[in-house]
Amino acid sequence: MIKLTSRPIESLIIQKKEELQGVIDYPDVKLSSIIREIGFKCDLCAKCCTAEFNDHVFLLDTDAARIKQIAPDALIPAPYYEFCDREGRFYVSGYALKSRPDGSCIFLEQGRCSIYSQRLTICRIYPYMLHREADEDGNMDWRQISGLNEHGCYHTVVEDGQCRQIAEETKEYEIAFLEQEIGFLEAVDVHFGENKLRHVQGIYDKQMRHFQNGGVIEVLVYYDGGFDKNLIRISDYVSGSV
Ligand code: SF4
Repeated sequence: MIKLTSRPIESLIIQKKEELQGVIDYPDVKLSSIIREIGFKCDLCAKCCTAEFNDHVFLLDTDAARIKQIAPDALIPAPYYEFCDREGRFYVSGYALKSRPDGSCIFLEQGRCSIYSQRLTICRIYPYMLHREADEDGNMDWRQISGLNEHGCYHTVVEDGQCRQIAEETKEYEIAFLEQEIGFLEAVDVHFGENKLRHVQGIYDKQMRHFQNGGVIEVLVYYDGGFDKNLIRISDYVSGSV
């Protein structure tokens, strides 16, 4: 539950810290046992590498640093910007990968990942996850797998050691993801405080319409403890190659 404070960003930080503690406290043995029970096996359908299936590939800072080295043109501010100040600058918690016009990941070639040995953290743990989500009746509960029964094979044998390793890597990812989000919120809070700024929803909506109509916008992407300035237009989200 969100504790109310006089500052909305502070409330979000408290909420994210509670989420983080929930992930840290989730028993490894339980997650490992669920992974064994699901028995997921990849059948190389490559659906998970498409926007249709997964919307976008969010990058932790460590992933963004690697992509900056091997293919900087593949980076784009993650969609769904979180704040916009009165000057029309958007703020978002990290980078994502560009897509091809058909919605597939920029690194997907003939149904295979062209950077497989260096693939990103989310790509290594997928389809496993550790999120609290509301079910159809609005009750919050943990979810440990994405796209259940929509891809791959189920009820196959996954060895105990592998289950433990997947559980460990999944928790590591979720913890790193939430730490990045908390770091972002804290940095925005400081930046807004120092510069007497705040989120302005009316400016957000106006700038988003400008962006949707092909205009250039400024997006400050949280990276390595600071903000990278990106000037982008909507067509930058899709690219034929890198
Ligand atoms: S980086 Fe590779 S594994 Fe990850 S979404 Fe792209 S093609 Fe798929």
